[in-house]
Amino acid sequence: MPTPRHRTSTFRKVFVKTPGGRTIVQYKRKKSARAQCAQCQRYLAGVACGIPSRVKKLPKSSRRPERAFGGVYCSRCSRTKIVELARK
Ligand SMILES: [Zn+2]
Repeated sequence: MPTPRHRTSTFRKVFVKTPGGRTIVQYKRKKSARAQCAQCQRYLAGVACGIPSRVKKLPKSSRRPERAFGGVYCSRCSRTKIVELARK
């Protein structure tokens, strides 16, 4: 039985083989889902994903693209959005 703090869906089980040949269970934090474009639902490039506490420790510039709508829209959708806003 896992310890009470591991009895939650936050953790995933990882089976690790020890040098002695036994297989033990380790509990690791789950990775967050990949970011998707708000318009076309494509996966965003250049957006960090993984264990949230680790992602938070990265520099802000490496967490999402540093353009307008970076981390919200994909490059194609943000291009059309910027042109659309400029024409208004
Ligand atoms: Zn898009």
